[in-house]
Amino acid sequence: MDLIIRDAQLRHTEGTRDIGVSDGRIVQIANRIPRKGQREIDAQGRLTTPTFIDPHLHLDKALISEVVRPNLSGTLDEAIEIIWEKKKQYTIEDIVKRASRVLHWGIGYGTTIFRTNVDVDTIGKLVPVEALLEVKKRFAGICRLQIVAFPQEGILKNPGTEELLRQAMKIGADVVGGMPFNERTMADSQRHIDICFEIAKEFGADIDMHVDETDDPSARTLELLAAKTIQEGYQGRVTAVHTCALAAYDDVYAAKVIGLVKEAGLNMITNPATNLMLQGRMDTEPRRRGITRVKELLAAGINVAYGQDCLKDTFYPTFGQADPLEVGLITAHAAQMSLPEEIETLFDMATVNGARILRMEDYGIEEGRTANLNIIDTTTVQEAFRTQADRRHVIRRGEVIAETETRTKLHIDA
Ligand SMILES: [Zn+2]
Repeated sequence: MDLIIRDAQLRHTEGTRDIGVSDGRIVQIANRIPRKGQREIDAQGRLTTPTFIDPHLHLDKALISEVVRPNLSGTLDEAIEIIWEKKKQYTIEDIVKRASRVLHWGIGYGTTIFRTNVDVDTIGKLVPVEALLEVKKRFAGICRLQIVAFPQEGILKNPGTEELLRQAMKIGADVVGGMPFNERTMADSQRHIDICFEIAKEFGADIDMHVDETDDPSARTLELLAAKTIQEGYQGRVTAVHTCALAAYDDVYAAKVIGLVKEAGLNMITNPATNLMLQGRMDTEPRRRGITRVKELLAAGINVAYGQDCLKDTFYPTFGQADPLEVGLITAHAAQMSLPEEIETLFDMATVNGARILRMEDYGIEEGRTANLNIIDTTTVQEAFRTQADRRHVIRRGEVIAETETRTKLHIDA
């Protein structure tokens, strides 16, 4: 065997296991593997989990807050406006550099599967997608990168975008994005959704939309998207991201929409870091939390994950390091998840729930699956979040691609 990980603590498992890897795949999981491996890692009882998945990250915009003017109102609208100027000056090289820096951080934190939304509009045209395709090439074999062609400026509001979306799909984008609330009228929002489905069907692609990222309780595009998904028989292939307005609805309408989301088999992604910062800006106290109804969606049996979303851009200008344990900790606070089983769910949201969004079958710690693993410097997922534990070994296809070990030395008597 190429690699044997000794004494690994797996989730939901009594006692530790040895994990044997050959040709990048897990070939044996046993209490004790008697043979010697080419390489051996003694996990010493540390928590060993599948790789993290970040299903929502804007790599084309990441880190631009380092060079643009600050977002003084802190709102989504101003964030989009500031980016217009920068987008006009985008170069492939600039985007590749920023995206690569962020991927390096994410990989160090144990994420090797990403879905990134990349702007497609008449301002930046296809430059961001071309840049991310270049990044995808450079990182092939290191991480899996799925590209969503994202009409950030709307489709009807920004004539020419529909054709650009088709071109983005032609040159290699994987998923059709959308932002139906960013249109002038409800009829245009519906048309926006219809166009996204037309393109997705042309290319046999899945759909991943920014939906109702607003505190406006009259926003209705989640309902429209769910209904369209049912009509088109696209259950399981559509993801709705943000859905902040769901939290602004009254409980009766929210329950109706959650029922539709369930029937449509929509996947949901919440991004509490960004939305805690952006939403509720115009509220007086008590301020809304700005995130979607995470617990109610989970209780309805809907697949929910979380993502970093923005990272030092005009939307979320100051923080973010593409660490799922950090985003998970923020999610726990924002969604008030604190019970032991809720913390297990929180960890699922950064792992298996993301795999369901990407419809990956080859995922998880099981014999026959690709060995994409993290050995985390703790024994339980709760402690992993609490201490933001080091990812001691990040393993991709059986190779160690990152190691972290942080040490504190106390020089005190008490
Ligand atoms: Zn987003």
